Amino acid sequence: MPSVAIVGGGISGLSTAYYLSKAGISSTLIEARPRLGGVIQTEHIQNCVVEAGPDSFISVKPWAMDLIRELGLESEVIGSNDGERVTYIRRRKRLVPLPDGVQMLVPTKVWPMVATPLVSWPTKIRMGLEYLRRPRSQPCDDRSVAEFVEEHYGREAVDYLAEPLLAGIYGGDPAELSVSSVLPRFVDLESRYGSLTRGVLSERSRQNGPRQPLFRTLRKGLGSLVDALWKATGRTSVVHGTVKAMEPLRGGYRLRIAGEWLTADHVVLACEAHQAALLTPVVDGRCAELLASIGYNSSITIALGFERNAVRDQMRGFGFLVPKRERRQLLACTWVGNKFPDRVPETLALLRCFAGGDSAMAESDDALLFAMRQEVREIAGVRAQPVFGEVFRWPRSMAQYTVGHGQRIAELESRLAALAGLHVAGNAYHGIGVPDCVRMGKQAAERIANPT
Ligand SMILES: Cc1cc2nc3c(=O)[nH]c(=O)nc-3n(C[C@H](O)[C@H](O)[C@H](O)COP(=O)(O)OP(=O)(O)OC[C@H]3O[C@@H](n4cnc5c(N)ncnc54)[C@H](O)[C@@H]3O)c2cc1C
Repeated sequence: MPSVAIVGGGISGLSTAYYLSKAGISSTLIEARPRLGGVIQTEHIQNCVVEAGPDSFISVKPWAMDLIRELGLESEVIGSNDGERVTYIRRRKRLVPLPDGVQMLVPTKVWPMVATPLVSWPTKIRMGLEYLRRPRSQPCDDRSVAEFVEEHYGREAVDYLAEPLLAGIYGGDPAELSVSSVLPRFVDLESRYGSLTRGVLSERSRQNGPRQPLFRTLRKGLGSLVDALWKATGRTSVVHGTVKAMEPLRGGYRLRIAGEWLTADHVVLACEAHQAALLTPVVDGRCAELLASIGYNSSITIALGFERNAVRDQMRGFGFLVPKRERRQLLACTWVGNKFPDRVPETLALLRCFAGGDSAMAESDDALLFAMRQEVREIAGVRAQPVFGEVFRWPRSMAQYTVGHGQRIAELESRLAALAGLHVAGNAYHGIGVPDCVRMGKQAAERIANPT
């Protein structure tokens, strides 16, 4: 039986441990923080389920849901309350609803687009004409999301659709993010249909079966997934400490943790790529360079609780996004009780705010809470005093898939394939969301359990 060490006890590392355990292989999970789960952390404040990190996962990617089923947690799954699914976007000091029919950033309905004050007439006309685009004759190299969206729908669509929508997911800049890695489905539609609008409409007409909620999550928070996973990884032992160094051995590796060395036949680096980069120079210098080239942004969530009666009129839809052109620190806000009604008691309202960037990270909690309250008042008219406020910081936690990401990851993976026993899993490679992290953990376990 191979011995396995997993560096990082977030959802990627825990999934690796779980699928190894299922295959009858024990492992040692090493986690620097005093708790497991990585950026998944659920707190309970005044009977509200407060998600400090992710609050849900997208339904169309199956891997998180498959895992939840295996863990017997299916009865705990709740879907987003899509009847309330309106997202507002700040434009010219107003909150404008995202027009009905916009799928990610692709408009699919004429009248809501014609009527919206979100974009100007020249952009609306351009969006309509996009329907007539034909596929390119030559395949296109990777481009930035901004270039791609501008080419299809114009600059205003970058500023008021792509930028705020992606800021909520990556905290990133569309001028730097790679369209092939961040929006692969749209790149595929472009190559087949030319027009994204025509592509989305044709695909939709072929879909049948019941519509599923856009997002799913667990009633008591994603922290309950972490707890259930940990319980199910019977063959795993955990060491709380930071892996400071890794060296190759003949047929394996050794890891230094708190001055002690741990040896293993296989190592799964399920930590952030910037941390994996610090561990790999002695093993393979080029791997370390490639890992270090994956950028990361920091993210902050701020939970503000209110008496529901005091904010009832402002609690509209799922929440709002603030485009970069209009914002200072606040990127986005979600009215948690509208998105997931089970998570907030009837007397309270919970606003989940996102702030990002190094300047926000440098602020104290008090300064951030003050800034968020000011901005929420200015943007959404929320004047009530919160009954609680909590700040959660996630430094360098959101991997940025910048232009050329796919090529860099292909090179990294071909080098890893030549290094027996070294694997990576995590949000830095093939998808940032929880389902993709589960998938990567599962694949790492499968490679160890079934070596070719
Ligand atoms: C605020 C926020 C909101 C998000 N919202 C969503 C959402 O709603 N839906 C969604 O699908 N995704 C969301 N994401 C993305 C998703 O949650 C993450 O990409 C995913 O959880 C990352 O899991 P991971 O295990 O790869 O990494 P992490 O959770 O970052 O875990 C890595 C772990 O490695 C440990 N580590 C690092 N270096 C070492 C070392 N040298 N030795 C030992 N341990 C080490 C760290 O302490 C950490 O615990 C969100 C992310 C954030 C930050």
